[in-house]
Amino acid sequence: MKLDVDALRYLSKDDFRVLTAVEMGMRNHEIVPSELIDRIASLKHGGTYKVLKNLLKHKLLHHDSSKYDGFRLTYLGYDFLAIKTLVNRGVFAAVGRQIGVGKESDIFEVATEDGTVLAMKLHRLGRVSFRAVKSKRDYLRHRSSYNWLYLSRLAALKEFAFMKALDEHGFPVPHAVDCNRHCVVMSLIQGYPLVQVKQLQNPDTVFETILGLVVRLAEHGLIHCDFNEFNIMIDDDEKVTMIDFPQMVSVSHRNAKMYFDRDVECIFKFFRKRFNLTFDENEVEDDDSEQESDEVCWPQFSDIKKVSGFLDKELEASGFTRKDQDDIEKFVDVDVEKDSGSDCEETEDEDIADQTNNASVKDFESMSLVKQEGDNLPDDVNMAHQDASENEG
Ligand code: ADP
Ligand code: MG
Repeated sequence: MKLDVDALRYLSKDDFRVLTAVEMGMRNHEIVPSELIDRIASLKHGGTYKVLKNLLKHKLLHHDSSKYDGFRLTYLGYDFLAIKTLVNRGVFAAVGRQIGVGKESDIFEVATEDGTVLAMKLHRLGRVSFRAVKSKRDYLRHRSSYNWLYLSRLAALKEFAFMKALDEHGFPVPHAVDCNRHCVVMSLIQGYPLVQVKQLQNPDTVFETILGLVVRLAEHGLIHCDFNEFNIMIDDDEKVTMIDFPQMVSVSHRNAKMYFDRDVECIFKFFRKRFNLTFDENEVEDDDSEQESDEVCWPQFSDIKKVSGFLDKELEASGFTRKDQDDIEKFVDVDVEKDSGSDCEETEDEDIADQTNNASVKDFESMSLVKQEGDNLPDDVNMAHQDASENEG
């Protein structure tokens, strides 16, 4: 998705006031009635309606009059709210080009005032899976309040908390800079997703490093759950960085062993196919066998769990609550059904345009943004407290 932030520079305080009013209304309405938006924004002389037209023109809102006259935020509208908040906080000052398209996110370069280039991940949980979730899960069928804003915001919150904790515990992950709504800002990783790498100087070493990461994660109490060639970045010195954490679970999760084994299997499969590494398959699959050969052994979840640490507990105390985790895990379960196997298969390179990470500040000049202070808008709107019944009609 193209992110044209040009309009962001021309939007007025009133524009943002109305956009925020729609966001607040979406806590309990899928489509927010126009009168409610007007009431929340409380602009003088019917100003809200003029502003709504302008926001619609810039595709920040979607208009729906099928049941009543109302509006909802588009992805772009939600992007603008997060970007504006982060710009006002001084986290970055310009948005550059897109550097990644994930399954459920768009990644852009952003630049700080002093020219440091960072990565901004905009979560888009509704894009692929939410429709699937919505049709499959009973708990959601009756609660349309679990909309994409809520899920995307939750995913960002979780990713930020996990990235920070993993960084603090010495894992090779991007440095977590800040987070707002569905948006996470982190350091830019120099390198490429492993899926794009055709050759390695030391495939054995890289393999062992990567496998070691899955094991060390589990020793810290966590399982990545989407540990594959798309979520491992590698640089020219073959240094490994892992990314993408919204689906991580604790080793005490009821399906922990399955998730762990699947992560391990993805790595084995990928290295066998892409780099022709050989492993003893039978030994690998058998849980109880004594593994004494020189070959790399399949790590045993039961052994690791015995020594596993408390990072999962620490994270529960980090502001990412148990309820948040439960909500997102219900979502992850579905994801698993949808994805199982697919990511592990040998895959063609992802369609990511020109993955060089060395943008110069010049690239950002036309997209630089101006801080606006003192408009008294909320920094964020927690989408969690919603009254489901209001959404039924
Ligand atoms: P998704 O959850 O949608 O799969 P990812 O976090 O895996 O999103 O990111 C998608 C792609 O964006 C990655 O494969 C990678 O190419 C790029 N990317 C993500 N984070 C960074 C980063 N910090 N630095 C550089 N590139 C990144
Ligand atoms: Mg990914």
